[in-house]
Amino acid sequence: MTKFSDLKLDPKVLKAVEDAGYETPTPIQAGAIPPALEGRDVLGIAQTGTGKTASFTLPMISLLKRGRARARMPRSLVLAPTRELAAQVAENFDIYAQHTKLTKALLIGGVSFGEQDKLIDRGVDVLIATPGRLLDHFERGKLLLTGVQIMVVDEADRMLDMGFIPDIEKIFQLTPFTRQTLFFSATMAPEIERITNTFLSNPEKVEVARAATTGENIKQGVLMFKPSRRDRAATEKRKVLREMIDGEGEACTNAIIFCNRKVDVDVVAKSLKKNGYNAEPIHGDLDQSQRMRTLAGFRDGSIRFLVASDVAARGLDIPAVSHVLNYDVPSHAEDYVHRIGRTGRAGRSGTALMICSPTDERNLADIERLVQNEIPRLNAPDSSTPDSAPAPEAQDGAAEEKPKRSRSRSRRKKEDAPAEAPVEEVSAVEAPAAQPEEAPEREEREPRRRSRGGRGRSDRSDRSERGGNTPQGLGDHLPDFIARSFEDRSETPDPS
Ligand code: AMP
Repeated sequence: MTKFSDLKLDPKVLKAVEDAGYETPTPIQAGAIPPALEGRDVLGIAQTGTGKTASFTLPMISLLKRGRARARMPRSLVLAPTRELAAQVAENFDIYAQHTKLTKALLIGGVSFGEQDKLIDRGVDVLIATPGRLLDHFERGKLLLTGVQIMVVDEADRMLDMGFIPDIEKIFQLTPFTRQTLFFSATMAPEIERITNTFLSNPEKVEVARAATTGENIKQGVLMFKPSRRDRAATEKRKVLREMIDGEGEACTNAIIFCNRKVDVDVVAKSLKKNGYNAEPIHGDLDQSQRMRTLAGFRDGSIRFLVASDVAARGLDIPAVSHVLNYDVPSHAEDYVHRIGRTGRAGRSGTALMICSPTDERNLADIERLVQNEIPRLNAPDSSTPDSAPAPEAQDGAAEEKPKRSRSRSRRKKEDAPAEAPVEEVSAVEAPAAQPEEAPEREEREPRRRSRGGRGRSDRSDRSERGGNTPQGLGDHLPDFIARSFEDRSETPDPS
């Protein structure tokens, strides 16, 4: 087995690694660090949780140790798709560079340009940025990228989803072609492949197993949820979620609850809180300081449930999550892989449960095709889909979703968008049933969105026809909450 001491890292970096308590390099580190230290381009196919941040940060620090930064000319550049991810890379950098004199600046939205300009003016060794903010600084003439020796692109597939690829191409063109490139992506979509073919030079390709396909330590299950009536769907679905949580009992020490839409993140968090669960929302429309506070609370255990959108949660390093609960089936199959990769990290066991409404069945099929496995079906608790129960009131005060067929796409789009999007974020909320929340970092520029799959409405009606809650084989993955009787819990008043 490779040891860190075999990797030819700078002794100061090795010391920081020891201080961090790492014993052996992860596969992406063992694969990427040696070629990176030789100055080669690296194409890393790995997702969050594999140790990929250290796989580029450690060699960068070792390589940059010699030399000095000049004013406004960073010596290296790390591009990350979201502010949180960029901030996390910066935190990692601080840990691994603690015994060196290297300097860094973090360029993300939500922080004043003035502060960031001052840092850049002084000269930084490592610039960590989101693409939009970086180009804004460049266009204001405050930054030169001609001194960049090492450029890292992290989570390129997410950049693609968020429409940042044109920005990335532009940034590549602003850096010297002799630069070294370390490029990371969880998946290799054709567009990503094109970029790597264009901008990487004979890269060492390092691929590590995906958590979703190999994560035997993650117990998975999907509950086929069929509302008793359309106008009760949202209330009943939230109740199913609470039953799912209760059913897991103490095994559920904490959970990330994923929703596809920002509006649902808020509604679900509010509903859980109203029902006595310790939950907070996190999504792109919340201001930066609030998101950071919520994350800190979730990390230190003072918040048990983090209700999140994909973009907000992407790449966040939260070490021990016992459960991932997919309130919605993600509409991009790869997001399922990313979501469930939040649990079962570092060899721990984890549980990933999902609620699938009839309209989500096509998306579920896409996921199962991607992970090449059937996700075990869970039995629907009787109490969650009452055929004759009176229409529950929205006692949680959460906004109800009544079927409003007559509303046009654009009208809904407007209504679901926040009343006033923060300056830093372009709200890219689209027709809710079809698109997940994506809150690009980019301010003024409209991100180009790729439509994936191009599913028409006709598909949807087929899907709902296919029947929802027939329990199927559970295999070995019988979740605890199925074994318990849901009748017991139905005594509690329906709190919606
Ligand atoms: P990442 O995939 O970069 O988000 O890293 C996931 C987590 O793994 C972070 O909490 C790192 O601190 C941790 N980590 C990175 N490398 C190692 C290692 N070699 N041994 C143990 N933990 C590690």
